[in-house]
Amino acid sequence: MEHTLQVHNSLTRKKEIFKPITEGFIGMYVCGPTVYSDVHLGNCRTFVSFDIIYRYLKVLKYNVRYVRNITDVGHLLDDGEDRMTKGARMANLEPMEVAQKYSNGFHKMMDIFNTERPSIEPRATGHILEQIEMVQQIIDNGYGYEKNGSVYFDTIKFAEETGEYGKLSGRIIDDLLTETRDNLKKQSEKKHPSDFAIWMKAADDHLMKWNSPWSVGFPGWHLECSAMSTKYLGTHFDIHGGGNDLKFPHHENEVAQNIGACSCQPSNYWLHTNMLLMNGRKMSKSDGNTISPEELFTGDSVHVSKGYSPMVVKFFMLQSHYRSTLDLTDDALLAAEKGYKRLMEAHKNLKKITTENTSNSDSVNEEIQKYITAAYADMNDDFNTPRALSQLFALVSIINGFVDGKRDISGLSQETLESLQSTFSIFMDDIFGLKNDLESGDNNGLVEGLMDLIIDIRQKARENKDWGTSDQVRDKMKELNIVLKDGAEGTSWTMK
Ligand code: AMP
Ligand code: ZN
Repeated sequence: MEHTLQVHNSLTRKKEIFKPITEGFIGMYVCGPTVYSDVHLGNCRTFVSFDIIYRYLKVLKYNVRYVRNITDVGHLLDDGEDRMTKGARMANLEPMEVAQKYSNGFHKMMDIFNTERPSIEPRATGHILEQIEMVQQIIDNGYGYEKNGSVYFDTIKFAEETGEYGKLSGRIIDDLLTETRDNLKKQSEKKHPSDFAIWMKAADDHLMKWNSPWSVGFPGWHLECSAMSTKYLGTHFDIHGGGNDLKFPHHENEVAQNIGACSCQPSNYWLHTNMLLMNGRKMSKSDGNTISPEELFTGDSVHVSKGYSPMVVKFFMLQSHYRSTLDLTDDALLAAEKGYKRLMEAHKNLKKITTENTSNSDSVNEEIQKYITAAYADMNDDFNTPRALSQLFALVSIINGFVDGKRDISGLSQETLESLQSTFSIFMDDIFGLKNDLESGDNNGLVEGLMDLIIDIRQKARENKDWGTSDQVRDKMKELNIVLKDGAEGTSWTMK
């Protein structure tokens, strides 16, 4: 396929023509989840975005090695206890039990969103040796210093000698003077507040710790990604991704560590996804402005009027560009559900359309081809899924016109029909990974029809104050893991 892929590079803050280091191959590293609690919808947005990018690169016939780590070593919080340890103590579990539990949950959620597994999914705890080696390299190159068993990265020396610190995040060293996300207690050990720990000496009661030349301790927050990307993709690879909240300090410090250890900026292109909001505000557990993926699927939340299927939620995510914020509201989800149904309907109908015409002379063929070309051009323009979807919807109108007889189908050529059918298959299955979860199997809406009937019977029973029947329906549904939710637009149902 002829294409010029452009990607927005956070390093240069510009859209650039994408050129892989080795023709035909791409190395891509994405920061994965910290597995100390359930994956939240914001995480899902970021991982779904990179899944689409991964899938699209493969559609462009690149051979992609996609590495996404699992952070199973805790990072220090302000109160001095790390996230893994905190999770373990609260649930009375082994830290690795916590990590396993939430890794399983993460994988399950990624499957529910029909995303592909990465080529390699390394765990931080499995790469302590590589991290210790990297700390040693950084010390040997003069950018790391030891203090009381902990090792710090010397940001001032690094900035002065290389001029590289702050390039990715756009921060200047003066700003950094006032900032630090490390444990406050440890600050006095640092030469400078912007220095960051690459190895931390562990307190006696710290649960996850390892031997090292400096102390029994654990690696610093940013080190694992530098060590594991280098191990599996080399010192210099094509794409590094993550949410834009990771730009600073995580990615800035990753760059510093890689240059400090290997004299090489690790990645040519840095891609950052934007944040998921809810009702215009940052999702936050502390002020109740949050919804879990499960609550969104079942509708069991004050923030939604009903449940939305995982594919509707995924479609909703694709309706905005990965670099824009995405605001989750009930109205937007209702609209997404309508749009998604329309798209799926057209996709199904398209499979049934036939034509005998071998000539491309009718203008409809040109019109269809124009939208197909535009859909790919949009994906090549920094993976612009909302614009690509709008081209598909232009095609949906044409398909619906053919199906309901409002458009003359006789001009449609065999060649155009095949191209239209393959475009829908490629976009739905290969690029977006959208499957029709609004209908169960190929039952032509049988389940939906039966559920409508049951909901109707329950409604009538309630109107007649026949509580026995209405309770019987509700209890049986519960047994079958079907959740009924009464809203302004009537009763809806979802599978738990
Ligand atoms: P964490 O498990 O906190 O390390 O986050 C895993 C990934 O999810 C990172 O790439 C984060 O940048 C991303 N992420 C966290 N919160 C959000 C959010 N609200 N919206 C989008 N991505 C997020
Ligand atoms: Zn990372």
